[in-house]
Amino acid sequence: MKRLTLKLLSLACLAALGAAPLSALAQSAYPTKPVRLIVPFAPGGTTDIVARIVAEKLGSALGANVVVENRAGGGGSVGALEVVRAAPDGHILGMATVSTTAANPAINARIGYDPIADFTPIINIAATPNVIAVHPSFPARDYTAFVAELKKSPGKHSYASSGTGGIGHLQMELYKSLSQTFVLHIPYRGAGPALNDTVAGQVPVIFDNMPSALPFIRDNRLVPIVVAAPQRLAQLPNVPTFKEVGLEPVNRMAYYGVLGPKGMPKDVVDKINAAVRKVLEDASVRKRIEDTGSLVIGNTPGQFADQIRAEFDVYKKVVAEQKLKLD
Ligand code: GLU
Repeated sequence: MKRLTLKLLSLACLAALGAAPLSALAQSAYPTKPVRLIVPFAPGGTTDIVARIVAEKLGSALGANVVVENRAGGGGSVGALEVVRAAPDGHILGMATVSTTAANPAINARIGYDPIADFTPIINIAATPNVIAVHPSFPARDYTAFVAELKKSPGKHSYASSGTGGIGHLQMELYKSLSQTFVLHIPYRGAGPALNDTVAGQVPVIFDNMPSALPFIRDNRLVPIVVAAPQRLAQLPNVPTFKEVGLEPVNRMAYYGVLGPKGMPKDVVDKINAAVRKVLEDASVRKRIEDTGSLVIGNTPGQFADQIRAEFDVYKKVVAEQKLKLD
């Protein structure tokens, strides 16, 4: 009897506390340890650059260290699969890229995950322009001379990409098909190593994202030929967009966001979304992203999910229409 009274009393106390403190208790259970942010490409690429711009301040906003881990390989699929297999508690997150959530799954039926069903999209951080750039020894410094050189010598030149099935690969294959040119594909474990070899002169051409390529362009170690962006970039005012040279289908930006495995609790997703948004309000963070010609996004999980779905559809169509196949 006494025990029952006590139990009723404690229930009454809980009821008196009300729903808010109880749900606050549930929410404060995350994070309980450092958060791992998987970058599915090698250091030095745009995924790595964007992750590291955000990670440090994200740690303070979330109240736990955010550790960036590079898991390169398989055109980003190795790192993506690590996120797919993680517990959905928010302590293992991944960088979402066009390559891992759209391009690669569109061309590789055996990639091992479904980019729509197997992830929880959390937030799109930034949209970045893409660029075709060449080593200074390449016999062209502008688009007209570039395409003339490719047409003159089919198969003579090669291009570096961030990996098989990634946007560098698929967009360049689309470019080749639309411009009726042929350049050999050399895939790397990310744009970092692809850039290293292009700058060293081992591969004459690269298709890359602007944040990783721009420092080399500014140092005159790479020559920009054409960009994928809604309009010419303030950073490269003399470089035309793909749209200007009559190749609008290649004029698509890349995105870099955060996702987790499927089945994450909504309150954890909302907490991470709010923390990333807070980081993106920081003027120094915005500047570092915008200085690369990129746009800060910072949208809702639902908006990001819609973007991924739309981009996956675009790449499935590109692969089907251009009859693209993995080598
Ligand atoms: N090109 C890849 C993408 O946008 C990223 C490459 C990298 O970060 O190394 O999906």
